[in-house]
Amino acid sequence: MQEKIEALRNRVIAPQALFIDGAFREAESGATLDVVSPIDGRRLTTIADAGAADVERAVKAARAAFEKGRWAKAAPAERKKVLLRIAELIEKHALELAVLGVRDNGTEIAMALKAEPGSAAGSFRYYAEAIDKVYGEIAPTAGDILGLVHREPVGVVGAIVPWNFPLMIGAWKIAPALAAGNSVVLKPAEAASLSLLRLAELCAEAGLPEGVFNVVTGRGAVTGEAMGLHPDIDVLVFTGSGPVGRRLLEYSARSNLKRVYLELGGKSPNVVFADAPDLDRAAKVSAYGIFRNSGQVCVAGSRLLVERSIAGEFSEKVAGIAAAMKVGDPLLLTTEAGAVSSEAQLAKDLGFAEQALCEGARLRTGGRRILAETGGFYMEPTVFDVTPGMTLAREEVFGPILSIIPFDGEEEALRIANGTDYGLASAVWTSNLSRAHRMVRGIRAGVVHVNTYGGADNTVPLGGVGQSGNGHDKSLHALEKYLDLKTAWIQL
Ligand code: NAD
Repeated sequence: MQEKIEALRNRVIAPQALFIDGAFREAESGATLDVVSPIDGRRLTTIADAGAADVERAVKAARAAFEKGRWAKAAPAERKKVLLRIAELIEKHALELAVLGVRDNGTEIAMALKAEPGSAAGSFRYYAEAIDKVYGEIAPTAGDILGLVHREPVGVVGAIVPWNFPLMIGAWKIAPALAAGNSVVLKPAEAASLSLLRLAELCAEAGLPEGVFNVVTGRGAVTGEAMGLHPDIDVLVFTGSGPVGRRLLEYSARSNLKRVYLELGGKSPNVVFADAPDLDRAAKVSAYGIFRNSGQVCVAGSRLLVERSIAGEFSEKVAGIAAAMKVGDPLLLTTEAGAVSSEAQLAKDLGFAEQALCEGARLRTGGRRILAETGGFYMEPTVFDVTPGMTLAREEVFGPILSIIPFDGEEEALRIANGTDYGLASAVWTSNLSRAHRMVRGIRAGVVHVNTYGGADNTVPLGGVGQSGNGHDKSLHALEKYLDLKTAWIQL
């Protein structure tokens, strides 16, 4: 496998255009953005820098395709065939897609292979198989009148996605939206557009009609804003940061009141009680639960809450595992944590570490940039002891930094766990079944793990509460975002 990866490592990537109405097209202004690889800081290629006129073109193509109905009105069983072909093509090109993505965003290849093409193909397959099993309803009305509830595609879906796991998170949105019969305009993050542009090609090869799936690359504040404000996008689905999520809600209010679904950040608590079944395993899973993909995982367990009686010993175990992790070249199969996605993100991560020291946090391991001689963006897995009031205990870093906070008893554990504005993921480690259930009920989050971390499956919804967002990706629940209910009253 490593040999095959090496064969793709330096493959030349042509300048990338926008994918609109079934073909690649330059941005109307001709503007481009450089794509820099976090592996070595070198320029990989360019992407088109779409402006409002390009977004207009993409939305028009999407609307026209929707109205034409070749996709929207096709029998679900017909859509299923195309979606299954897309899944097959993703699988056929899995290595190419994974390497392309890693060169773009720096995720370690072992994880990228599983999470990116693996999960993306799984999403297309899941919604392909689901969509011809979704029925409307007959309401239990009086005998002389019939109430029918139809489920209809919403129309044009705008999707804005982040740079960590672009293919996987993109597919979580594209696959159910297409399965439901919608047209889609997707905007990838500036730092990770390449694999999604390749996906657009594969969708066309699979037989998806022109205009049904469009990709516009460019800057958030320009391309993304034009999508947010566009009057003909019916539903906007987003994964990314809280501040951008807020803007999208404003754009919606200022334009056509499009529905906006937000999957935002987290500061997920991972709560370890002294009676955890296997403290060595808990330490290992906890360390990997934050440091894989250099902490650039929305559900990363970035706050480790440890019962005080074991806090010293357990924290040392976790710090030891962190210090021993293999950080470096993301294209080596043996690498356990790859690069930070960009120079700006690396500076942000290092800034958080510096601020933690200024606020009096105790550094157990890490804290520095490494492998600078490669030109790439790498940081040591970093572990701090913090107190609940410190910045590192409250704000999302989205980098390889773990904050450890000791606690006494369940009540305090819950108070600290619920003491941020976020509510995405969490975990509890205990052998006490009643306590596990109490904690599952008490933690304010969309996901609670018990004696594990990072569970992922297309059959299970993923979403947050509080300022971690609304709506869910994955599972049959995700379809609800892409289908409108219509009631028909029929007098008999
Ligand atoms: P980001 O919010 O900076 O960018 C996300 C997307 O929004 C990008 O495509 C970007 O170009 C676009 N954007 C930026 N400004 C915009 C604007 N003014 N208008 C419209 N679009 C705009 O986030 P990021 O740095 O790419 O990703 C990291 C964040 O994503 C973290 O907060 C992380 O927790 C979150 N995330 C959440 C989940 C989840 O499922 N909840 C999953 C992955 C990542």
